[in-house]
Amino acid sequence: MNPATIDVEKKAKPMHDKVIGGFSNSGAFLLLVALPPLTYYMWMALEFNQGALFLPATAADWSMWLGRVPAPTPLAIGIWLGWFGFQVLLQIYAPGKWVEGTELKDGSKLKYKMNGWFTWWFTWAVLGGGIALGLYPATILADNFGSLMTVVTLFAFGLSLYLFRYGRKNPKGEQVSGGAGYDYFMGTSLNPRIGNFDWKLFCEARPGLIGWVAINLSLAAKQYELHGTLSTPMILVCAFHFFYIADYYFHEEAILTTWDIKHENFGWMLCWGDLVWVPFTYTIQAYYLVSHPQELPIWAVVGIVILNVIGYIVFRGTNIQKHKFRKNPETLVWGKKPEFIKTARGSLLLVSGWWGIARHVNYFGDLMMGLAWCLVTGFNNVLPYFYIIYFTILLVHRERRDNEMCAAKYGADWDAYSKKVKYRIVPGIY
Ligand code: NDP
Repeated sequence: MNPATIDVEKKAKPMHDKVIGGFSNSGAFLLLVALPPLTYYMWMALEFNQGALFLPATAADWSMWLGRVPAPTPLAIGIWLGWFGFQVLLQIYAPGKWVEGTELKDGSKLKYKMNGWFTWWFTWAVLGGGIALGLYPATILADNFGSLMTVVTLFAFGLSLYLFRYGRKNPKGEQVSGGAGYDYFMGTSLNPRIGNFDWKLFCEARPGLIGWVAINLSLAAKQYELHGTLSTPMILVCAFHFFYIADYYFHEEAILTTWDIKHENFGWMLCWGDLVWVPFTYTIQAYYLVSHPQELPIWAVVGIVILNVIGYIVFRGTNIQKHKFRKNPETLVWGKKPEFIKTARGSLLLVSGWWGIARHVNYFGDLMMGLAWCLVTGFNNVLPYFYIIYFTILLVHRERRDNEMCAAKYGADWDAYSKKVKYRIVPGIY
């Protein structure tokens, strides 16, 4: 139990430390101080060490590497503010239907503007148009990667502070510990908003996600500039990621029933994660391929594509099945009437289809895709495999947190579901 929470628990409303994070105070502190340097470390390995890991041995080594931490530049600040502002304007003004989110604790429902599909394609038209008109080179994000990372890191720390204060000023019964550091990390508000502008949905779904793909494409342009060719692995990784995010916007409404949107306060963990971690570490494979334009044998290409497609079918099939079922429990699941458990709280737990195979088989599909993305880089270095290593840890941890939360929420109904559906993520194995 996180010590900072005990006191508050006694004084205030009942609170469940594990639901707040599954992160102890020290765990949260460690992530807060270790993750930003880790992102710099990985970037330095890619930029200065051919993607190989390194260990500074002497004081001189340390000072050399530390001296390479990129400073913010006026160009990087301009790119970031322009990008962020552009995405804010699209979120507010781009056409899209208004959709109600799931029911909040007080019985109300928030409205969200689902204009991601339009935004996605409009953004590419504008970015492509800018390149075609010669306003900026296609390599601009690749060339300014380091300084951009610094700018966005500072921005995310600042925005998290605003969010922390926002939640403290506008409490709506969120689960908080009362400890400033811990609450800065986990967040103090479930749905921080200015009018209808939802900070969490916006940061989760726009600047970082589209930024991830934009950086990939810029890195591909860099490979072309340096080597006069686009390697098949680079094309594959860019295509996989492009498709993954396009698909996300195509099914945008499904985000409203995800755990982050429904249950997670919006603090540093999500804010920095969305704005820095996603675009600057999910692009590691493309970054690595810039300096490693090697080709793959055709059998490897075919195998990787098949793995990605199977992963996608499992991932998307599972997520959309829950989404459709929760919207209309009469919806047929794999051609049959769905089997489900009606919980004492009123929610329905699907027991047939993908949700009858494992309790989070969607994570398994996501992991298969993640593995395919890493495999395109070959086997010479471990760094391009960072994504699958980290993602496995994240999803295993996430499943544990979700399981505990569902067990607390649904009690005996969750036990019954867990007895019927034994496996957590990988059917027959885990
Ligand atoms: P889920 O979409 O699986 O949502 C879990 C919630 O669904 C539970 O808390 C519960 O909420 C509800 N639920 C659980 N079991 C059932 C059931 N049998 N029937 C109906 N509802 C059920 O989890 P996530 O939000 O974590 O993941 C969504 C997707 O996002 C996944 O595919 C994941 O891989 C992906 N993801 C990707 C990340 C990335 O960085 N690329 C990061 C995190 C996730 P309740 O009952 O309260 O509705």
